Amino acid sequence: MRIDFQALGLESVEGGAARARLQELACSNAVQVREQLLILLNRGARDVIVDLTDCAVVCECCGVPALIRANRRARALGARLGIAVPEESPTRQALERASRSEPFPLTIVPVAPVGPPPVKAPLAAA
Ligand SMILES: [Zn+2]
Repeated sequence: MRIDFQALGLESVEGGAARARLQELACSNAVQVREQLLILLNRGARDVIVDLTDCAVVCECCGVPALIRANRRARALGARLGIAVPEESPTRQALERASRSEPFPLTIVPVAPVGPPPVKAPLAAA
């Protein structure tokens, strides 16, 4: 079966690194996004960035839990999942709130809102 990673807006998969750029993470696609992230990780992706900088909607009821689920799997596999979000955004606040009660806190990669295209943002040290 061919797996379509379209829901992830997958930009690249090189070596073990993948970057997914989401337009939204809402009730309509959160399950699909979660499953595709899990498949990526299960297939050996070891450094995954979920880029939410263009993401208009991140649903707290299902979008945030989807990321937490993927993050737990990543940690269990010895991989890293980083979430790129605008520095000042409700999304970042929601993720940080959720992260506080997690045994494996989300790795949040703040991105400046405007300016030159982001250089390959290193994941924050765990
Ligand atoms: Zn929802």
